[in-house]
Amino acid sequence: MNILLFGKPGAGKGTQAPKLAESLGAATLATGDVLRSAVREGTPLGRKAKEFMDRGDLVPDDVILGVVGEALARPEYARGAVLDGVVRTVPQAEGMHRVLKASGRTLDAVVYFDIDNDHIVERLSGRTVCEKCQTPYTGRNAGEACDKCGGTLVRRKDDEPDAIRNRLKVYEA
Ligand code: ADP
Repeated sequence: MNILLFGKPGAGKGTQAPKLAESLGAATLATGDVLRSAVREGTPLGRKAKEFMDRGDLVPDDVILGVVGEALARPEYARGAVLDGVVRTVPQAEGMHRVLKASGRTLDAVVYFDIDNDHIVERLSGRTVCEKCQTPYTGRNAGEACDKCGGTLVRRKDDEPDAIRNRLKVYEA
């Protein structure tokens, strides 16, 4: 089963994706998570993506499609994928047809998360994420320990108000 989650940043995709994946026996593929670990590890992909991400801008489509295509070839996705954070542009939507076909998949469902901007800003400006396993939290402070893996909770650079507003503008565009 392959499912794609679609909606604004902060809509709740990252919270629901692992739950859905677990109940389906599938694995989550969150492009933001893949990119953030590449940035942390300083890989060529990470070096390319960092400046776009810090501003809250989109990483180029060809980079994203490459990341997704490579990931889907891994055994952990053999039983299905819950795609979180892709697609975000028309070329990505078009490219996904090719990428899915190349890995012998069809898309079973697209789930759209609908939420207004005031809620988004409120949620994201109070959000922390685990720097190790990326689990998102609201109402928890940076420096606390993750309930799931014991990693440290941190604020994301792009969860500052200016970057949040830019991400919403980019989403609308
Ligand atoms: P959010 O959706 O909450 O902004 P993500 O973790 O999904 O956060 O993504 C963080 C950043 O990674 C985005 O702001 C963007 O720079 C980059 N990114 C992730 N997925 C994509 C994508 N499909 N296309 C372009 N850039 C992406």
